[in-house]
Amino acid sequence: MVIQNKLLLFLSLLFMQGLLQANQQVLIKDLFELPCKAETLTPENLFELQNIVTQASSRHKKIALIGANKSMGGQTQSYDDGAWRVSLDKINKLKNLNVQDKLVTVEAGMTWEQLQSIITPHGLAIKAMQSFKDFSIGGSLSVNVHGQDLKEGQLINSVHSFTLLMTDGSLKTVTRAKDPELFSLVVGGYGLFGIIIEVTLELTEDKVLERKAVTFETKDFASFFKNNVQDNPNIEFWSVRFSLGSNDLYTRALSITYEATDQGSPKDLVIKEDNYQLWALKAFGLVKPFKVLNNVRFDIEAAFFKRPKLISRNNFMNGSIKRLPQNNKKDMYILQEYFIPYDNVNSFLEHFAALTKQYNINILNITARHVGKDTNAFLSFAPQDACALVLYIRVPKKDTDYLTTAIWTSKLLDKCLDLNGVYYLPYQLLATRDQLERAYPQVRNFMDLKRKYDPLEILTNKMYEHYAY
Ligand SMILES: Cc1cc2nc3c(=O)[nH]c(=O)nc-3n(C[C@H](O)[C@H](O)[C@H](O)COP(=O)(O)OP(=O)(O)OC[C@H]3O[C@@H](n4cnc5c(N)ncnc54)[C@H](O)[C@@H]3O)c2cc1C
Repeated sequence: MVIQNKLLLFLSLLFMQGLLQANQQVLIKDLFELPCKAETLTPENLFELQNIVTQASSRHKKIALIGANKSMGGQTQSYDDGAWRVSLDKINKLKNLNVQDKLVTVEAGMTWEQLQSIITPHGLAIKAMQSFKDFSIGGSLSVNVHGQDLKEGQLINSVHSFTLLMTDGSLKTVTRAKDPELFSLVVGGYGLFGIIIEVTLELTEDKVLERKAVTFETKDFASFFKNNVQDNPNIEFWSVRFSLGSNDLYTRALSITYEATDQGSPKDLVIKEDNYQLWALKAFGLVKPFKVLNNVRFDIEAAFFKRPKLISRNNFMNGSIKRLPQNNKKDMYILQEYFIPYDNVNSFLEHFAALTKQYNINILNITARHVGKDTNAFLSFAPQDACALVLYIRVPKKDTDYLTTAIWTSKLLDKCLDLNGVYYLPYQLLATRDQLERAYPQVRNFMDLKRKYDPLEILTNKMYEHYAY
């Protein structure tokens, strides 16, 4: 134990070299626990929000914006204790629904859940969002989220326009055509360029989908995707689950598709959550003595998902993160996501398996989905088509576990970057600036442009402060 602690101390010193490149010298523990003393303000309407921005400007205050506050690395916080955290929670009204043109305009604090309850009775559905419904639309735009939809891609593709409150107090309507630079910066811009007030989104029709599942070997990942998924016009949603047992770690994969079908009508399918996630996490991850069940988990899951099932698009997008285990006194649950070119997925997973064993990291779940190449968002995380690997990890709340997780992550990031991959930004700030620049070579220009649109740097967050030049 003493040797292990000394080794960790030594490794931590090495790791800190990386963190010290960033502007802030932060404790690794704080990258997980996110202490924050800043006051939170919750304006009731646009008028109050404008007032806050004017006050911030005259009193040299910083503002960090909050949507549903689910990002995990301080993207809604500032290191400046005197900053204001401004929540858009109450700015959440429906402004317009055009059923015929399938367009909806909502205030940015509205959640996907609220939007779904408005559009479902009209036979409409959301084109792109996360796998869960609990997030705000403004926060989702600022991260440019993606889900399991195979063709709609990242959220930016279904954004028609938005209204932005600039830090000089002016209001701007931003469209792709009229203001391409600002459009591309704000979507995926982590709230650094202006405050999104209203968003007009393109919708699609709700429909019935049929679930199908097949197993394959992970070593065939690229060819499986190319031959069975990529060009299948019927597939709306695609995801992959992997074997997690010590005997077959990540070597077997279960492809789950939801395909358009003529059977039934979405109106006949009651909206209810598919709570498989909770059930699986409880059975296989949370109850520690049952971890050995991971050796049979894959076969149980394959049998479960191969059962015939019809589900509406809205139903599929109706899961809630409330079903996931919540942080408690002992443990926290974190996410990480890596976008790996298909030909390199197998190599990444082999390395991931070895590192995870070496550092004894508790991976509760790993899934894959597709992200299509995106050149619309300035800070795009998909410079090429890629497989998105999503990791769900339990981290005991102890300094040594934070440190081990940080070192493990840093090594995994290096491998991801060596394999021409990119990592996702709304999670813990564990990458060094060098790793950030390798993943996002455009980040220096992004930060220069931030200062063009917000010269007083009123809008901020820990991610910006951590890496700013
Ligand atoms: C359990 C879980 C599952 C997830 N699954 C997915 C997934 O499937 N796909 C995916 O892409 N991501 C996923 N994420 C990541 C998630 O999409 C992001 O963390 C997202 O930011 C959360 O939305 P939010 O409303 O909580 O935003 P917040 O965390 O509140 O804010 C995110 C960023 O947007 C800024 N912001 C918020 N509101 C505004 C506004 N009105 N104007 C300008 N800037 C604003 C904030 O300052 C911050 O920088 C998941 C996260 C969790 C915790």
